[in-house]
Amino acid sequence: MYQITLATSNKHKVDEINLIANGYDVEFVLPKGEFDPVEDSDNFIGNAYCKAKCASLNAKTELTLADDSGLCVEALNGAPGIYSARYAPSPKERIEKLLFNMKDKENRKAKFVCAMVVVDKKGQILFQTEQTCIGSIMHEPKGKGGFGYDPIFFVQSENKGMAELSEIEKSKVSHRAKALNCVLNWLKDNR
Ligand code: IMP
Repeated sequence: MYQITLATSNKHKVDEINLIANGYDVEFVLPKGEFDPVEDSDNFIGNAYCKAKCASLNAKTELTLADDSGLCVEALNGAPGIYSARYAPSPKERIEKLLFNMKDKENRKAKFVCAMVVVDKKGQILFQTEQTCIGSIMHEPKGKGGFGYDPIFFVQSENKGMAELSEIEKSKVSHRAKALNCVLNWLKDNR
């Protein structure tokens, strides 16, 4: 198995990404040692790069992958966007705040965005991509799966809420799955 460091301290994210990469002969592993990046960019690619560069410093692998993702709502001028994780203190409060801010909005269009950046040991960018999952904000939470904003996100292509999809279904249509597939295709030709 070809190992690649995944610039995160979230074990759930490593598992989710390894599930999508199943069958590719690639294994994503947690960073070795301390991982405490400063995400000071105003866009997803920039923040993914901050994480990738930080993790590549101590990486034992040749390549490091980082992602940065979030939910962008059209009627809120793209909010919460890069601030998705910090929109309110807890996942439940984030959903409540978003539904409150959307209560008078007719335009419910939204998209999940995922940026991925691959760097070498020197922290130089070898590949980058930004992918989306298009949908809309529902009026109330639905479904028991997923995490974060999944319970209020309606996935256009599936005609279902994101939290109503199984893990396998989500791993085929999510913004993260699309971005990772671009990375895996790039790896096939460049590793
Ligand atoms: P991260 O950059 O992947 O850590 O994601 C930042 C934040 O965006 C998360 O804490 C979630 O609030 C939100 N988010 C990203 N991806 C998803 C998803 O697939 N479902 C629901 N929320 C997500």
